Amino acid sequence: MSAQRIVVVGAGFAGLKAVQRLERELKGELARGEVEVVVVNPHDYMLYLPLLPQVAAGVITAQSVTVPLPRAIKRAQRLPGQVVGVDLQRKVAVVRKIDENVVDLPYDRLIITAGSVTRQFDIPGLEEHGLGMKNLGEAAYLRDHVLSQLELANASTDPEERAARCSFVVVGGGYAGTETAASLELLTDAALKRFPRLDPTLVKWTLVDIAPRLMPELGQRLGEEALDLLRRRGIGVRLETGVEEVTADSVTLTDGSVIPTKTLVWTAGVTASPLVKTLGVELVRGRVKTTTDLRLDGYEDVFVLGDAAAVPDLTASPPGSALCPPTAQHATRQAVIAADNVVASLRGQPLREYKHHDLGLVVDLGGTQAVAHPLKLRLTGMLAQLVTRGYHLYALPQARTRARVVFNWILHLFGGDDFIRIGFLHGRKSETSSFEETRDYLSEEEMKQRASAAS
Ligand SMILES: Cc1cc2nc3c(=O)[nH]c(=O)nc-3n(C[C@H](O)[C@H](O)[C@H](O)COP(=O)(O)OP(=O)(O)OC[C@H]3O[C@@H](n4cnc5c(N)ncnc54)[C@H](O)[C@@H]3O)c2cc1C
Repeated sequence: MSAQRIVVVGAGFAGLKAVQRLERELKGELARGEVEVVVVNPHDYMLYLPLLPQVAAGVITAQSVTVPLPRAIKRAQRLPGQVVGVDLQRKVAVVRKIDENVVDLPYDRLIITAGSVTRQFDIPGLEEHGLGMKNLGEAAYLRDHVLSQLELANASTDPEERAARCSFVVVGGGYAGTETAASLELLTDAALKRFPRLDPTLVKWTLVDIAPRLMPELGQRLGEEALDLLRRRGIGVRLETGVEEVTADSVTLTDGSVIPTKTLVWTAGVTASPLVKTLGVELVRGRVKTTTDLRLDGYEDVFVLGDAAAVPDLTASPPGSALCPPTAQHATRQAVIAADNVVASLRGQPLREYKHHDLGLVVDLGGTQAVAHPLKLRLTGMLAQLVTRGYHLYALPQARTRARVVFNWILHLFGGDDFIRIGFLHGRKSETSSFEETRDYLSEEEMKQRASAAS
């Protein structure tokens, strides 16, 4: 009898945790060759996204926020590539390997954890001129871009050009946008020492959000404290304001104001990986609707979790009336339940429902500043920063990665930044989708053609 094959799509927060749990729970079956686990991921690392703003700010190096898969995955097979379509009827994942070859990968159980991509809005100029902040490439590019703006402003004699190059706009007042604006403001502040011809008052950071509050999940009081803190540091926070248009030299806001700038960082929301559209199933707010045991409705062998899934929140009142938010906290915990449910389904045992009470949020505002809301406590300042950094160390999946991060923090604390641009993609233009797995998915027609060619 051939082995039962479990295919895991993606090795991020949810995917890696699910694979590790499957390796543990199916140790015997894997050793005897009764089950095989195949994980498909484009890169050979899991990315710890919450520390990306610190990569952009130069506090830690890019490699430090990666968890190497060859070390983290012991018994499962790794297939480097991207799943570009799923045929639920034939039970096949179509994989484009990194050598561009496209192959069919049949499965007995499928776990989809392809995460999310930056959500695009129909705003003129956004795709062309906006910069994303959702992967290593984007974080490294953003750092280079910000430093190059200061360098070019320093070398310019045109006051208008100088002002535009020294003005930076971040859109999205969630934790990703707030941390990005806060940590990069510290970077430009520190870098000014290296550009003696630049007037420090020229450098301006603006954080824009359509909502009336920053990070509503922090609660009103902490949200207001974060807002005060950012404003005291000179970061302009524009709430209840959206973006109307973006050009190479400016951003027009919905209140009619125009900010001359060459930098717009877009962090205003995410949407599920385009892979979910190839499933041809119902989507809720762009995510795949799942049952409470994390299965794709109507498909007993397919599990969807993490940012790609619309999972009913059983802690909401009434239970299931809301969806679990797309956070690492939920992705990791869903992975444990999904892996256990896959094992239970193979053994003919009952499946468990996913229910998790949110443990709160930690937000690093750079240096010694942070706000944190762990277990309903409200913390600010140095204590919040200690809790924030402690939380990241606890959540990072590998001792090696934890050690790198701590070492980088210490080095940065005592040695500061070297402010170099590594020349990443020098001279190339970046767009919000340049670094994301958003292209090359198979259309419904292409999937049908593959199915009829195979039959
Ligand atoms: C800047 C930033 C800061 C954040 N801070 C926090 C925080 O402080 N706390 C928190 O809880 N959450 C935070 N988040 C959100 C958190 O990172 C996500 O909710 C979490 O990563 C979701 O996990 P996931 O496994 O669903 O997706 P991911 O972790 O994104 O993993 C998806 C994986 O799938 C791979 N993949 C994508 N498409 C395919 C495909 N077609 N085929 C194969 N593989 C594919 C990707 O390469 C990736 O490895 C932050 C996010 C960002 C961007």
